[in-house]
Amino acid sequence: MTFVGYLCHKTLLNSAKQSSIMLCMRNFDKAKRVVIKIGTNILSKEDSIDAGYVGLMAGQVNSLLKMGKQVVIVTSGAIGMGAGQLKLSNKPGDVRMRQACAAIGQPMLMAEYRKAFEQFGITVAQVLLTAEVLNNRKTYLNLQNSIETLLKLGVVPVLNENDSISTAEIGTAFGDNDRLSALVASKIDADLLVILTDIDALYDKDPKKYADAKPIDTVFEITDEIIKSAGTKGSKFSTGGMKTKIEAAKVASNAGCRIVLANGKTENIIERIIAGETIGTLFLPKRKLSNRERWILNSTPAGVINIDDGAIRAVKNKKSLLPSGIKSIQGTFEAGEIIWLNDKAKAVTNFSSAELETLAGKHSTEIRKLLGAGRRDVVAIPEDIVFVDY
Ligand code: GLU
Repeated sequence: MTFVGYLCHKTLLNSAKQSSIMLCMRNFDKAKRVVIKIGTNILSKEDSIDAGYVGLMAGQVNSLLKMGKQVVIVTSGAIGMGAGQLKLSNKPGDVRMRQACAAIGQPMLMAEYRKAFEQFGITVAQVLLTAEVLNNRKTYLNLQNSIETLLKLGVVPVLNENDSISTAEIGTAFGDNDRLSALVASKIDADLLVILTDIDALYDKDPKKYADAKPIDTVFEITDEIIKSAGTKGSKFSTGGMKTKIEAAKVASNAGCRIVLANGKTENIIERIIAGETIGTLFLPKRKLSNRERWILNSTPAGVINIDDGAIRAVKNKKSLLPSGIKSIQGTFEAGEIIWLNDKAKAVTNFSSAELETLAGKHSTEIRKLLGAGRRDVVAIPEDIVFVDY
């Protein structure tokens, strides 16, 4: 494996220093909370689930628990198992059929997890999520509480998307479990997210097309170049490809979480990652955002407030957004919802779309005159504004 130059372009390090930095970057001794995402590809065998694989995974998770770590699993495979049960040869394209397959496959999937973990005396718990649940601050806090409680009880929560009730068409779906695992890792303050897939690492170009493609063992920053190097395709039953994994890594790294992308079929992969072996691709955390900032960043905005350049500059400099900088409004939303500021930042608005139509371009002193007393005098405070890229 190589230590790719463009990943560490700011400083040229000598090789001894590089290795010691690499060692400390891969030191997971203090990583208390680990999220493991298991993809459909590595979990399925012909038309069913690979029970032997789930058993091996249970053994590795058991070792982590013995080290005092907490583990959350995000599993795919419900749709694939349901499709297998119905003897379908391909991933169902129709939303209703996918939902039906998920409803059939999810209990089958959990039965395998339960059986495998029982051998080690570990209790597992099923938690099914939709994007809506994570977008809504109240349900998100409920989720956080239940996961915290399960972890305190020494239980391993096994999460999946509630595919039977969420559809991408109406914006309630994560789309893929890579994203779901990153959002969960971010929301529960995980120290490490392990994304297990069927390829060894992220490569500098598509290894299926180019024989000289080189695996990348450390990504310091997820640049456009990195995103470009990722292919796109998922498999027969799964949704995500390398691109969704990189996007997921970006979400988790924004939460200060380290991510390792690795081949789930490699022997003892989890234990080897935890032991610090240079295996798969390690993505380093980017910025440490507060819980609220992460919630804002990871939510689906309900509309757009288009603001002028001066307002963009002001909010970038940690100033509040004032109505005078507003050019126009798109969408219908309520006060307290998350909206886009142009396509640059996400923010919690203190006013509804209808109120902002009235306020656009006006001076802050007019807010109370136009909307009555007791209203906030800014559209969004700096703590509620998060730039997507910075
Ligand atoms: N939630 C889907 C399932 O359990 C998988 C989505 C994905 O492939 O990422 O089948």
